[in-house]
Formats: sequence, C-alpha cells, structure tokens
Amino acid sequence: MSTPEKDNKFVKLFNEAYSNVLNKENTYTVEVKFSSRFKKFNGKLVLFRNKKLFELRLSNEWKNISNEIVKGLIEELIAGLFKKNYHSFNIEIYRRFIRNLDLTNSRVEEESDKELLESFKRVNEKYFNNSLDVCLVKFGNESTTKLGEYNYHSDKITISKVLKDAPQRLLDYVMYHEMIHKYLKLSIKGKTYHSKEFKQLESKYEGWPQVEKELTTYIKKVSFRSKPTRRKKSSGISSLFNFFKKNN
Ligand SMILES: [Zn+2]
Repeated sequence: MSTPEKDNKFVKLFNEAYSNVLNKENTYTVEVKFSSRFKKFNGKLVLFRNKKLFELRLSNEWKNISNEIVKGLIEELIAGLFKKNYHSFNIEIYRRFIRNLDLTNSRVEEESDKELLESFKRVNEKYFNNSLDVCLVKFGNESTTKLGEYNYHSDKITISKVLKDAPQRLLDYVMYHEMIHKYLKLSIKGKTYHSKEFKQLESKYEGWPQVEKELTTYIKKVSFRSKPTRRKKSSGISSLFNFFKKNN
C-alpha cells in the first residue's frame, strides 16, 4: 500500500520535525504506512524501542497535503509522544487546516437532507470503514429513471425523491451505488463508468442481487402509484365540476 517516493518525502519530513521538536537528530528507522481504513486526516505515531523504529501511520488524504501542514501534524505527534510542550508555525497552520476542515464538514451537514446524510453515514461505516469524506447529499427530482447521481466537480450526491419513503435498504443501496462513484474517483482517476471493479464493489452490498430486484419492483410500484396521483388532480377538477352540476 505504500509508495516508496512518497514515503521518502514523509521520512524526510519526520526527521525534520523530530529535530525541531527534540533538538537532536533522529537515529531510529522511520516507517510510513498509509491506510484507507483510518478516519480521514488521522495520524498516529508508534515507537518500537526494541526495534529502534518509529511507525508513522497516516490516512491516505495526507498524501496530497502541503509539506508545511504535514510537518505540523508530525511535530504535534512527536511532541505528544515525548510529552514535550512544543509550538511552531507549522503546528499553527496544521491546526488551522483541521479547524477549516471541521467548518466545511458542518456546512455540508447543515445543507444536506437529514435522512440522506444518515444513509450516507450508515453506508460509509458499513462498506467504506468511514473512509469517505462527507459530501453534500440532497434529494432531486422525483425521477423513476434516474435514481441517483454523483457529481465529481461539486462532490455532491443527488437522490431521486421517489426514494424518500422507500425501505431503508433500498435507499442505502442507491446511496451505496453513488458512493462507489465517489470512492472510485479518488482511487482511479477518470474512471467514471460502471467498470468491472465498480460492479464488483456493488455486488458486495448485503442482499445483492436480490436488492436490485426489490428496487425495480419498488420503483414500478411507485411510478404506477404516481400516475393515478396525477389523475387525481384532474378527477378533483371533474368532481368540482360535478359539484356545480349537482347544485344547478
Ligand atoms: Zn452509476
């Protein structure tokens, strides 16, 4: 899971951070491990004294963050491990970065539809080890042909309103589908279609492929129901008309 060149960058940052915090050179080995199982922007530092080894465990998102911020994170981890009271400009911008991240998250949570946000969180926990960033999730049109959509540019998931009263596992299934799009965008650039990998992931949904049939049945039922609803409006008018006729 680790890429050597990237690791080198992180090892270098670690050694710089180490001498900043502890005022001496690091003589131990540094191993960097990235994990998608980690919560986003999480980091952990473990010291194996007997092996003279530092293990730096980072969530994948750190790979694309600027050196200053990463160094701030590592400095804070080292200071924490050695119980040093240390402060620096890097730590300051690292903390600001995390604060802004929290702000963005709370804005996303405020603007999303609550039941969809819950669905997103359920699916994220069950199928993605909570590794996906929360994004904007909203109900769209009452479409029976397009049940969901993930927009890469705005990082937004739209779910058709026909699923508003659907059983939870059906809503979660459509949410899961869209979240796979979001997930694959991160790991394979440009692969937006339903690739083999996509289908493989999709089939991991609990109760698949039965759930697919259930969804089709549900949508048929709803679209059947929604047609008489439209007629009801006109029948409402006709009964109004009848009402006048009766009173004449
Ligand atoms: Zn799709």
